[in-house]
Amino acid sequence: MSDSRAVAGSAAAHVVVVGSINMDMVSHSRRLPAPGETLMGEAFVMAPGGKGANQAVAAARLGARVGFVSRVGTRAHGRELLAALAEEGVDARGVQQDETALPGIAVIMVASEGGENSIVYVPGSNAQLLPADVQAAAPLLQAARVVVAQLEVPVPAIRCAFEMARAAGVITILNAAPALAEGAELLPLCDWLVLNETEAAQFAGLAVGGLAEAEAAAQALLARGPRQVLVTLGAQGALLADAAGLQLLPARAVKAVDTVGAGDTFVGGLATGLAEGMSPVEAVRLGQAAAAIAVSRSGVQSAMPRRSELQP
Ligand code: ADP
Repeated sequence: MSDSRAVAGSAAAHVVVVGSINMDMVSHSRRLPAPGETLMGEAFVMAPGGKGANQAVAAARLGARVGFVSRVGTRAHGRELLAALAEEGVDARGVQQDETALPGIAVIMVASEGGENSIVYVPGSNAQLLPADVQAAAPLLQAARVVVAQLEVPVPAIRCAFEMARAAGVITILNAAPALAEGAELLPLCDWLVLNETEAAQFAGLAVGGLAEAEAAAQALLARGPRQVLVTLGAQGALLADAAGLQLLPARAVKAVDTVGAGDTFVGGLATGLAEGMSPVEAVRLGQAAAAIAVSRSGVQSAMPRRSELQP
């Protein structure tokens, strides 16, 4: 039975994230098992993840008031996921709880020798987010300054959120990760399109390569509707394309320890900056400053900095 609680007239959430949430279940063993093999493991860790939840947590740690719109199966680890969001101060009134469904689960095996990994991702309730669930969160979405989505939940639900946001004058950010072709229909509804180099090439249908290829992809994507296209380039920084032209914004030089989740921390920071009224370049710099700290520590959500850790 799904519990469709409508969000009653609520205080404004500056950033609203529409997206996925899942539990990462990570085993560490010396090497990865061969098919059919059972190995003794060295350690096991469970941590909340999903691009939507990660970006919501990143923005909350940076001081934004954050609302989350999602569908969470409350079987197995679903309730722990909801408790973790509450601990971060994320407003979960836009989350539909489904007692009959499993939440998203990522089963991750990491080899301690060499660091290789294998991942099976089962989307669970993330695949069941409906436009009606988004409609139920209309007051939250309409009161936001910025609405952010990724492509780990169905496109019709994101379309519904972006149409509502656009009609209410709310800034929309699409982080096109993973770079699913069906996400292209959202481009005319995006103020910002954010993707990494590989996703930009896939989304634009162009070659993956160096800076020249990233520039070509950014320009091709800009012509398809967004006002700003931002291609993140890992340690190199990010390429911003808009009506004023192309700009390379270098990343801060840090010793990277674990870059998993860099993009999510970056998007959370960008959304926070835009919700605070920063210019595009200032908001990108806030995202970069947060991501630089996150990559210098291990973990994903656990590595995301608080605002007080950023240099003014
Ligand atoms: P994704 O995690 O989506 O692949 P990127 O790796 O491009 O995204 O990283 C997003 C942003 O995080 C970059 O634009 C940059 O600002 C920051 N970042 C990533 N890796 C590093 C690094 N090694 N050093 C400093 N900043 C980094």
